[in-house]
Amino acid sequence: MADKQIKSDSEWKMELTPEEYHITREKGTERAFTGRYWDFHEKGTYKCTCCGAELFDSDTKFDSGSGWPSFFKPIEKGMIEEEDDSSFGMVRTEVKCSKCGAHLGHVFQDGPKPTGLRYCINSASLKFSGKQ
Ligand code: FE
Repeated sequence: MADKQIKSDSEWKMELTPEEYHITREKGTERAFTGRYWDFHEKGTYKCTCCGAELFDSDTKFDSGSGWPSFFKPIEKGMIEEEDDSSFGMVRTEVKCSKCGAHLGHVFQDGPKPTGLRYCINSASLKFSGKQ
C-alpha cells in the first residue's frame, strides 16, 4: 500500500492549476473532449497530477468514445481507491489516488477485455510521462 501524502488545501492550491485543483480536490469533472489526454496516444506512464504516483500505463488505454482518457486497468490495484458515489442522482464508483486522495474519475463495468472495466479519468488528474 502506498504511503499517504496529505497536504492542506492551501498547499494543493499553490501547486495545482485552478482546474486541476477543482477536479482533484473538489471532485470536479472536466468537460468531455476538452482534456489534454482523451485523444493522446504516446507510450508511457500516467501519474497522479498531485503526488506523482504511477497510476496507468498507456498499454491499457483505449478509445472509449467518451471524451475522457479511459483505461481498462490501473498499473497496480493498490494505487487506486474506490468509493461509492451517489451524487447527481447516479450510483457510480469513484476512483481516487490511494496515496494523496486525489479524485481521478469513475470506474464502470462496460470496459473491454481482459478486465471488462472502464476507468474513466479526468485528464487534469493525470500527468503523462513518456517512455525514455
Ligand atoms: Fe496522488
